[in-house]
Amino acid sequence: MDFSFTPEQEAFRSRLREWLEKTSGEVFGRRGEGMGASTASLLDVGDDSKWQGLREYHKRLYEAGYVALHWPKEWGGGGASLIEQAIYQDEVLRLGLPLYGANQLAIDRIGPTIILLGTEQQKERYLGQMLTGEEIWCQGYSEPNSGSDLASLQTRAVLEGDSFVVNGQKVWTSLAQRADMQVLLVRTDPNAPKHKGISYLLVDMKSPGITVRPLMQITGESGFNEVFYDNVRVPKENLVGEVNQGWQVSIATLMWERASGGTRHPVERTINELIDLARAIEFEGMPAHRHPYVRQKLALFAVESRCLRLSRYRGLSAQLKGKAPGPETSFGKLFATELNLRVAMFADELLGPYAMLMKESIGAVEGGRWTMRMLAARGLTIAAGSSEIQHNIIGERVLKLPKG
Ligand SMILES: Cc1cc2nc3c(=O)[nH]c(=O)nc-3n(C[C@H](O)[C@H](O)[C@H](O)COP(=O)(O)OP(=O)(O)OC[C@H]3O[C@@H](n4cnc5c(N)ncnc54)[C@H](O)[C@@H]3O)c2cc1C
Repeated sequence: MDFSFTPEQEAFRSRLREWLEKTSGEVFGRRGEGMGASTASLLDVGDDSKWQGLREYHKRLYEAGYVALHWPKEWGGGGASLIEQAIYQDEVLRLGLPLYGANQLAIDRIGPTIILLGTEQQKERYLGQMLTGEEIWCQGYSEPNSGSDLASLQTRAVLEGDSFVVNGQKVWTSLAQRADMQVLLVRTDPNAPKHKGISYLLVDMKSPGITVRPLMQITGESGFNEVFYDNVRVPKENLVGEVNQGWQVSIATLMWERASGGTRHPVERTINELIDLARAIEFEGMPAHRHPYVRQKLALFAVESRCLRLSRYRGLSAQLKGKAPGPETSFGKLFATELNLRVAMFADELLGPYAMLMKESIGAVEGGRWTMRMLAARGLTIAAGSSEIQHNIIGERVLKLPKG
């Protein structure tokens, strides 16, 4: 693969860079830094002023035509080339901004699922409002006893006339407190083998019978929620795919989610900030950036983040074929979130006891943002399937090793 860019592509990069710097500066303050430690994730959407900023940023992203460069033009996306998408990702991550504005789940995974497997009526009804950000989406998969073993889910839906009637509970639902719509996995045939009795519904979050309770994370933010369903009626036409065949639809969404999990963490930017930190503090009685152990670690992280960038470019080619990405997305998701965690843990090691000071504490280094990163980083290795599950998928479905 040739990674040099044509003059037209470089012109696209400069236009985009200028737009991103100006817009993020106007909306979030200097270079988006006002967005906090978990900029690229949805961990801090519970904060009203941050959420309003994210909505405003989304609106501008949409108006400038950047919100879904990878979607086909037919459905309002940018229909961008592979190289333009790579440039977009590079530039957005360079500033630590969210790739898909406020509607990450809709743009990176739910919209592509509907484009591939939804009815014409569903495409007409939902895709446009995902792009504008008028309808924010969340994803109701996990339940209190069904996370890694998702197919054991128990939330029930029974077809009564023209509607499914839903009862049960979901948990860890990111963004549910802000969402207008949800993709929901329900059990429609309790007697079938567990993967065969599941259906995939599009649910209006304002339907009577839905209760959303935000959960507090270890960072003090609240990005995910418990969601309860008490006789919630969902029109039959909101079924995606066939009844009892929702597992295949849910896997398509999950693959896009994992593909995005390997691309949306601004690890290179975090490593550059770590290098700045090493220039500013001492480690074992000498400037940290001169210490051989620190230098080796920083060099290793820099090499790994460059590998991540190159495999991100490679991953884009799967999207161009218009198919759902495959199990190979687990590589990117696993590597990006584990690298992000190792970088955060190393910052902790450098800071020693200062790493225990939360944001706003007296003496907290750089406003305590490394502590927040450390606390947030573990969750990202769990979301979208834990690292252990990604190892299993890579072993069994990519490398075709025997089941353990
Ligand atoms: C920040 C964040 C955001 C999230 N957002 C959403 C969301 O929007 N929507 C949603 O539906 N869910 C969401 N989740 C939930 C997430 O998908 C689950 O937490 C995840 O799938 C793990 O499930 P669990 O928490 O039930 O853990 P469990 O499945 O109970 O796992 C517990 C431990 O056992 C290990 N384990 C389990 N099975 C195996 C196995 N077969 N082999 C090896 N090890 C195994 C796991 O790796 C883990 O360490 C989110 C989670 C986080 C942290």
